[in-house]
Amino acid sequence: MSYQEYTVKRRTPAWVIWLILVSGVGLTLLAFYFSMSWEKKAQQLLFQQRVEGIVATLNKELAINIEVLLGLNALFQSSRHVDREEFGIYTLSKLARYDTIHALEWVPRIAAGDREQHELQARKEGLENYVITQGSRAGTMVSADERAEYFPVYYVEPLTGNEIVIGYDLASNPSRLSMLKQSAASGEVRATSGIQLIQGDLGILIAVPLFSRDAEGELLGFTAGVYRIARILQQVFKLSHIDPSEFNMKIWDSTSTDQSQLLFSTVDGPFAPGIYVHTSQLRVVGRNWTISVTPSASYINREVTVGPWLILIAGLLLSLLLTQYVRILRYREAKVRYLVEQRTQALALSERTTNTILDSAVSAVITIDKLGTVQRFNPAAEKIFGYASDEVVGNNVKMLMPEPYHSEHDDYLRNYQQTRDAKIIGIGREVSGRRKDGALFPMLLAVGEAKVDSDPIYVGTVLDITLQKEAERALINAKNSAERANRQKSEFLNMMSHELRTPLTVILGYLPILKKADALPPAEMIAQMATDIDASGQHLLTLINDLLDLSKIESGSMSLVLEVVVASDVVDSVIAKLAKSAKEKGIELTSKVTGLAMYADRFRLQQILINLIGNAIKFTQQGSITIESKEKSGFVELSVIDTGSGISDDDLPVIFEKFRQIDSSSTRSLGGSGLGLAITKQLVELHGGEVSVDSELGKGSRFSFTIPTKGGSE
Ligand code: ADP
Repeated sequence: MSYQEYTVKRRTPAWVIWLILVSGVGLTLLAFYFSMSWEKKAQQLLFQQRVEGIVATLNKELAINIEVLLGLNALFQSSRHVDREEFGIYTLSKLARYDTIHALEWVPRIAAGDREQHELQARKEGLENYVITQGSRAGTMVSADERAEYFPVYYVEPLTGNEIVIGYDLASNPSRLSMLKQSAASGEVRATSGIQLIQGDLGILIAVPLFSRDAEGELLGFTAGVYRIARILQQVFKLSHIDPSEFNMKIWDSTSTDQSQLLFSTVDGPFAPGIYVHTSQLRVVGRNWTISVTPSASYINREVTVGPWLILIAGLLLSLLLTQYVRILRYREAKVRYLVEQRTQALALSERTTNTILDSAVSAVITIDKLGTVQRFNPAAEKIFGYASDEVVGNNVKMLMPEPYHSEHDDYLRNYQQTRDAKIIGIGREVSGRRKDGALFPMLLAVGEAKVDSDPIYVGTVLDITLQKEAERALINAKNSAERANRQKSEFLNMMSHELRTPLTVILGYLPILKKADALPPAEMIAQMATDIDASGQHLLTLINDLLDLSKIESGSMSLVLEVVVASDVVDSVIAKLAKSAKEKGIELTSKVTGLAMYADRFRLQQILINLIGNAIKFTQQGSITIESKEKSGFVELSVIDTGSGISDDDLPVIFEKFRQIDSSSTRSLGGSGLGLAITKQLVELHGGEVSVDSELGKGSRFSFTIPTKGGSE
């Protein structure tokens, strides 16, 4: 897979990037929303606190203003009579300082019966045409209707502009009358709802009842003040250091549950919708004021901070950056993963290649670490040592070595690592290995050293050289036996020439005597000579026949004429031939052979027996020779047992070899070619039988051979 294909297939999926982007933007928007709303709430709280401050200031301001009225009331209370001038002096000083007060008044209570008296008194005091008045439908002032009591405005300051209210009966107006009555009943300061002032703005009328100081506590009248609401609020704003343009305010008199009256408003019409409105209740001398305040546009603008917007912008930027970063990471990660995978594949391939090489190597390859622990043991090693790989891997390599290497190997390895004094490493030599079954074998060991991660490993190559060694041995043996054969041949030639020359000497020695016809020896001597010449000739014939037989056998041209032969018959016929020579040596020659049938070449069988019995006679000085027979699963075994010289254990293995005589000199003295047993062996084997010998030096020998019965070999 190419890098491009790989990065498309294996990198982090694209939806992860989208997820990060969407969640980043989402979280940013959420943070923006919350910070906005928190800020809004904080603003509102702050605003609320400021409004409460304003309301508190308003309350205080009203109290201060009412204090003027209470002071005036105290003046009336303390003096038996306050005349118009005294009233003027007191009130004007106050009015000069309180521009919130539209007018201060003295409103006496005039009983119906006292009206005339009262009006007269007023006119007397200089109020021309004074009558108690009330408002008419037409909007003008007319004389007040008759009623049980009147509350005419008697003193008023400032007089200028307020002349018209002098004599105006507050009892003529139901709301004012009700206020006065409440005030009188409770003995406390009371106020009206908003009243329209001549100046156009709204005011409130506040009254403080005045009672006689005697026990009756008769209501004498009220000190009253008309207060300009707008002015009071101006004062409040001023005291609160508030820019009135920042607030929109509406104050309602909400004492009456039916309808509330708007007392003050900084805006025409209702508040702009959607803007936060803080509403507060204020108890103003027996009346309920509802104060609603909302921040103006300029206030909102001033209070708005950039915090949430910063969060929004920073959040969005961060999301974008994060997305971009992840995109880059995604490519980088894919690249790294691609490289790792490539390398891993290459590594796996290289390991597979190494494994294949090691597995298919003909030589055993064994690797060990610096402590001698086997790490690898390839199939060829398994084959050579007979261990399965997992029986060896993890164990010390010395398990594959016989003593003394087994005990010395650990020290050797340690010593080599310290001194670099190598006996095998880097050199290679022939050592001996130990197979699983304990068998030792010669091997050629070559060890190389390599470094893996700074630790040495040793790679040993083992070649089982058992076969080579055997071949070498065989070669040496062949060479030895060739040399031996050569030696034997020389000995044989020596012996042969001697054997041939002896009878020839006899024959040729007699011939000159016999050739002299005129000087022939006596007849008995000639007869003796003829006998000797005959014996010598026979001996020569035997030798030559033996040689011919052997060469025939060895060339493979010897053929057998097989027939059923009765053992006792053949043995008896051979004994008959040899009985004479045995007898001459005083040896008892006996046959215990039974009439067992054999399938053999009669002539060759005789030859075999002549050889064996002849040898027995030859190598026996005294005692007996016995021939036995027995049947042996498909064979007849014939044995020639003598009490002769016997053969040493050392000589036994070689007596069947051709041209071999044990003690050449002594044997020679007894005559013989060293071919007899070799021919015998070959002839027996040609029949399909075997020859064996059992002999003890000085005690005698037992030569046995087997010949198949008829069909025994089939
Ligand atoms: P040879 O013709 O010299 O007898 P053989 O092949 O017949 O040769 O015998 C080989 C050798 O085996 C003899 O030289 C002799 O040393 C030994 N040998 C054979 N038969 C006997 C025996 N019956 N007793 C002792 N030694 C024997």
